[in-house]
Amino acid sequence: MTTPNTPIDVRSWLPGDAAAALEELGAEPYRGRQLFRALWQGRLASFEQLEVWPRALRARMAEAYRLDRVVPVTEQRAHDGTVKGLLRLADGEAVETVLLPHRYGWSVCVSSQVGCAMGCHFCASGIGGRRRNLTAGEIVDQVAWAASVAPGRVSRVDLMGIGEPLDNYRETVRFLRLVHEPTGFGLSYRHLTVSTSGLVPAILKLAEEHLPVTLAVSLHAPDDALRERLMPINRAYPLSKLLPACETYWQRTGRRVSFEYLLIQDVNDSTTLADRLADQLTFPAHVNVIPWNPVPEHPFRPSPPRQVAAFCETLLNRGIPCTVRRELGQEIQAACGQLRRSGAIPVQS
Ligand code: SAH
Ligand code: SF4
Repeated sequence: MTTPNTPIDVRSWLPGDAAAALEELGAEPYRGRQLFRALWQGRLASFEQLEVWPRALRARMAEAYRLDRVVPVTEQRAHDGTVKGLLRLADGEAVETVLLPHRYGWSVCVSSQVGCAMGCHFCASGIGGRRRNLTAGEIVDQVAWAASVAPGRVSRVDLMGIGEPLDNYRETVRFLRLVHEPTGFGLSYRHLTVSTSGLVPAILKLAEEHLPVTLAVSLHAPDDALRERLMPINRAYPLSKLLPACETYWQRTGRRVSFEYLLIQDVNDSTTLADRLADQLTFPAHVNVIPWNPVPEHPFRPSPPRQVAAFCETLLNRGIPCTVRRELGQEIQAACGQLRRSGAIPVQS
């Protein structure tokens, strides 16, 4: 039986939703499995293309449900192999998605909202606020786009594009389950990362979902005064609430939390602050240092490489694992924090 919560867009369906909906239409449950596989392994673009189905069933599906694909409007390629897609959604909104090359293969950085409500003072994605949440289907369809342009297998997905995934909790969790489905993309939870600016109640809820995904928390400062200047969310969830929630996440999932720390020259990049950060991390954690990527609207400068190295060195000396994120895709404004909606694009009829 379908429930009132069964999404109207079949891209958001888990195999169980598909089987129930098809049964309700009088079809055998195996049709649900067929549909799910065709959607994600066959890149089905319309019900019409399901030629193995009786015509009447295809027509009934088209009447009751939707199948909208994201449509690439532009694809930009950087010399380092990064590909950025501006993807149009069915209502004319747009988001950006980035495919990134690694030694181990390909990863994709997907958006979870059109815009972002968090208003961090260093990021391009929040300029203009949040227009709407993406559905789970719209998020997984970004993975499908990336898989269609990647020269190899996409083996990791990071919810690190536009938007705050935990401000769109329900669809984010549905997306994680969807992309993990063996007859879809079949990605291991360990290869999925949810990046958050620190919504404490949602972190605690995620810890109880039994989804051992990697949690990345955007910290960027080791004390409340400085963090508040950079991230308004810190007023609602200060470090005294955020860090214990991260510790709980580690305890409940067994997954070491990854902290993102972007380095802005003379703002948050001193070795004194690195020491203070080390004092705060009293449970297993990893710090990912990211030199700030320029966003013209924000008056900052990235820390010079010497300072980045000194910051990381200080953490390592204190026994905190630290890596410096490679700045892939900067040339095409595809690096962390540089993604935008780039305006709504009219739907072509
Ligand atoms: N909203 C989530 C995920 C999207 S932002 C979050 O904030 O975690 C993805 C990452 O990019 C975050 O760690 C964010 O802090 C970082 N970021 C934002 N603007 C940046 C910039 N200009 N340079 C480098 N990293 C940036
Ligand atoms: Fe939103 Fe993340 Fe950008 Fe902050 S850093 S404005 S939470 S996308």
